[in-house]
Amino acid sequence: MEARGLAAGYGRVPVLRDIDIKVRPGEVVALLGPNGAGKTTLLRTLAGYRRPTGGDVFLFGAPCNRVPVYKRCRQGVSFMGEERHIFPGLTVRQSLRLVRSKSGHQELFPSLDRRIGHRAALLSGGEQQMLALTLALARDPRLLLIDELSLGLAPLVRERLLDTVRATADRGVGVLVVEQNARSVLSRADRAYVMRRGEIVDEGPAQRWLDDLDGLAALYLS
Ligand code: ATP
Repeated sequence: MEARGLAAGYGRVPVLRDIDIKVRPGEVVALLGPNGAGKTTLLRTLAGYRRPTGGDVFLFGAPCNRVPVYKRCRQGVSFMGEERHIFPGLTVRQSLRLVRSKSGHQELFPSLDRRIGHRAALLSGGEQQMLALTLALARDPRLLLIDELSLGLAPLVRERLLDTVRATADRGVGVLVVEQNARSVLSRADRAYVMRRGEIVDEGPAQRWLDDLDGLAALYLS
């Protein structure tokens, strides 16, 4: 996936300006930046929920500005938004049956396995997010876009989710992930982009930011 000179907004309010971003197969790319920087808007534009007002998005080598969400899904884009994408009324088992993976690849988080007969609505927040990730992966995506992976969840759950994200990329999937805990996500990421006020203000290898978390924090505040 690649975006060049991407611009988008809400009505006449511009939010994203001149965004250049790339995610290659097998990469975990962290999208960092303070609240309101435009991370959610960027992910939603890449997933096809918002039409760009400028620039281009390319998916798997082809321009896709006008390709609707459902077609991008079919091409292999999976989007995990802040609202959990689960079926609240179904049990874990029923949910998994609905989206059974063609590749047969379906690892289950051990804590979900223990809840296989429980309705999704009754799971903890962490279990629900594990289920959402499992369901997203069951669609055999080629590109996974994740907003706020661990918002409101326990650190241990966050670490498990990030380990799964890393393992997913290691199977060849490209992942773009927004996660508040910079240190945790950077320790699994290959590269990172930092956004502020609708623009990408810096990018680089994840290790560079891990070595300079203070510099990263200063970017958020400047
Ligand atoms: P957060 O971490 O708080 O979700 P973010 O980096 O994801 O922040 P966005 O949610 O993309 O940022 O918001 C970017 C800008 O767009 C903000 O100024 C926000 O007020 C504005 N915005 C977001 N959603 C809408 C909307 N539906 N209508 C109008 N403006 C919006």
